[in-house]
Amino acid sequence: MTAADFYKLALIGDPVAHSLSPRMHNAALRALGLPGDYHALAVPPEQLIDTIRRLSARGYRGFNVTIPHKQAILPLVHELSAAARAIGAVNAVVIDGGKLTGHNTDAPGFMSGLTQACFNAAGKRALVLGAGGGARAVVFALTQAGARVSVWNRTPERAHTLAQDFHAAPVLPAAKLRLGDYDLLVNATSVGMAPHDEQSPFALNDPALSLPCVYDLVYNPRETRLLREARARGAQTIGGIEMLLQQGAEAFRLWTGLDAPLAAMRAALDAN
Ligand code: NAP
Repeated sequence: MTAADFYKLALIGDPVAHSLSPRMHNAALRALGLPGDYHALAVPPEQLIDTIRRLSARGYRGFNVTIPHKQAILPLVHELSAAARAIGAVNAVVIDGGKLTGHNTDAPGFMSGLTQACFNAAGKRALVLGAGGGARAVVFALTQAGARVSVWNRTPERAHTLAQDFHAAPVLPAAKLRLGDYDLLVNATSVGMAPHDEQSPFALNDPALSLPCVYDLVYNPRETRLLREARARGAQTIGGIEMLLQQGAEAFRLWTGLDAPLAAMRAALDAN
């Protein structure tokens, strides 16, 4: 076995202790009998440049990028995929012969969740909550799929910028939001994430409200309060775990050139 056969992979972010990615990717390596290791590295912003240099020098095949580095890493890679460039965020980097290429696998990961749920976004009206890295990938993916997208965010300026970047519909003030006007509601904020499970970006307490499909990027808890209330109203609901799995599978394929063993990766997530 040569050093090149050993898959050295990592996640860089801060914090990373809660991440399920090491469990998922190590299960994938084992399932395919590939020698290697994926581990999480807590990297504060001031250590980002040195860390990337070190990973490259030490023969890493690639790494995932999470909060707060998804945008900061853009100028630090040699090349960007078309999607990463359009979205303006990188969540997976491939290292090949010292060359770093930034990708965004959140967008296809998000779309896989919709596909699994048999939701065809073409021509549908979608409301995306949030304007961070996750929301940018979601709005990119939905507009590419032909949906008519509106964006709402707690900080309106960020929502305006996002809507402009992707030719999405004008941003609505919260008080005027009519959730019933949409075929798809996507929560791409961190509201509802553990340990604040009792929170929800919007209380779905109008008995007359009809929402066909609600998708929450949050995966801990598996069913957020938003999804629970939407399900009680008869909506189809999609949790963030499928997106986590599919974005990971796409990154694994980029690093190894192999189809990801989805069943093993899903089992590793379910064991959590
Ligand atoms: P981010 O870039 O930090 O953006 C966070 C977003 O949440 C911003 O729009 C922020 O609004 C909003 N927000 C935070 N606290 C809020 C509050 N109390 N009330 C209203 N809005 C609030 O994070 P991100 O990377 O986009 O991630 C967002 C969520 O998606 C996280 O829960 C993350 O775990 C999840 N995610 C999941 C996957 C997956 O594979 N399932 C992939 C990516 C992200 P402001 O602009 O006003 O601060």
